[in-house]
Amino acid sequence: MLLHPMENFKSIVRLIKTLNTEEKCIQFLVDLKWNGIPTCSGENCSNPHNNNYNVDRKIFRCSKCQKNFSVKTGTIFQGSNVPLIDWFVAIYEIANSKRGISSVALSEKIDVSYKTALSMSHKIKEALDDENEGTLFGIVEIDETFAGAKLNRDKKLAYKIYKRNLERIHWGLEGKKEKENRLKREAKYAKKTGKPSTQKESKLEELLKDVPAYNRPLIEDKYTRNLHHQKIHYKKNIVGLIERDIYNSDGVLVKQGKLLLKKMGRHKADINGINMMPLLKKHIDKSAKIMTDGHPAYNDVKNHFRKHDVIIHSREKGDYTPILYSEGEGNDMKTTNHIENIWCHFKKMENGTYFHFSYRHTDKYLNEFAFRYNNRSLTNSQRFSKLLGKCLKKNITNEEIRGTIDSYSYMAA
Ligand SMILES: [Zn+2]
Repeated sequence: MLLHPMENFKSIVRLIKTLNTEEKCIQFLVDLKWNGIPTCSGENCSNPHNNNYNVDRKIFRCSKCQKNFSVKTGTIFQGSNVPLIDWFVAIYEIANSKRGISSVALSEKIDVSYKTALSMSHKIKEALDDENEGTLFGIVEIDETFAGAKLNRDKKLAYKIYKRNLERIHWGLEGKKEKENRLKREAKYAKKTGKPSTQKESKLEELLKDVPAYNRPLIEDKYTRNLHHQKIHYKKNIVGLIERDIYNSDGVLVKQGKLLLKKMGRHKADINGINMMPLLKKHIDKSAKIMTDGHPAYNDVKNHFRKHDVIIHSREKGDYTPILYSEGEGNDMKTTNHIENIWCHFKKMENGTYFHFSYRHTDKYLNEFAFRYNNRSLTNSQRFSKLLGKCLKKNITNEEIRGTIDSYSYMAA
């Protein structure tokens, strides 16, 4: 029996020194998974008695149903030839690096190929799929962000000029010379391609005529993709719900606030009341007090929850004095700064470590971020063991880690 109080794993070096052979890793998992007694994983069996261990093949044989099983059966390690310690290092890194770890960096650390590292990293993230669930109470701050790659400055400028020129043509604001040049350009284009140069825009308008408002952005994206130099396609909306920490009258922490992150479409227009309200009703208790910014998607919040405080970050709206950033003090302070802080760290993770992740896989990265935030009070080794515990609960296949585009159930059909 291996002695492994969790505090042994204060650092990654301690982890590697303690579990320096595959046998010790297996024994460690046996202790963690079955409390030291290997138990058959066969259907309707779960026999814990006299299961023989085959040292060469590293598998157990059930004394009752005669089936083979190993400590990897029914976990994310099932079917993997990567040594267990490499898996543990990957899990340790994902559980404890504040900005995450990219698959390239991971592949160099544990000396596997990039593809293997990517698959391992996605399987570990997929094991966290229950992280963004649950109900929030007390004071809940809500905000949304438009994450993803920024347009390159030159391309952004080119797009801005293009848009401005279209507007100038529309309102008849072109100069004489300007118009001559444009007509020349259009004639050149027509000669070259045999089509009038404005065809693209008219086709788009025609297409959008019968499309409901909430479906428009995707089609617009498809047809204006070249104008945006394909970057806008990578964007995604993320909605964050964060529960305030609860303190008692003596100032002692009673309950640590939980963070939920959800993706909501690829276009800014997907953030609307139709998509937002089912999400809020599912994850927030009716007795909660909500704090948001002045986005119209939250207009209906006051009808479904105890109270709704609006923080408007702009002086220009109306002739009253808005709450710009915060008002009041202590527990009941009116502010959304806690969730703004989350965006600061989340975007540093996305832009600094991963550079880009697609809409399809966004859920995994949200789960990973939320896991680290929600377990912020634990030590490194406690967070490692918690994540390892989740990895032991289910087998994740390669089909499952491919992700889905339509996994978001709140979007209006
Ligand atoms: Zn059995």
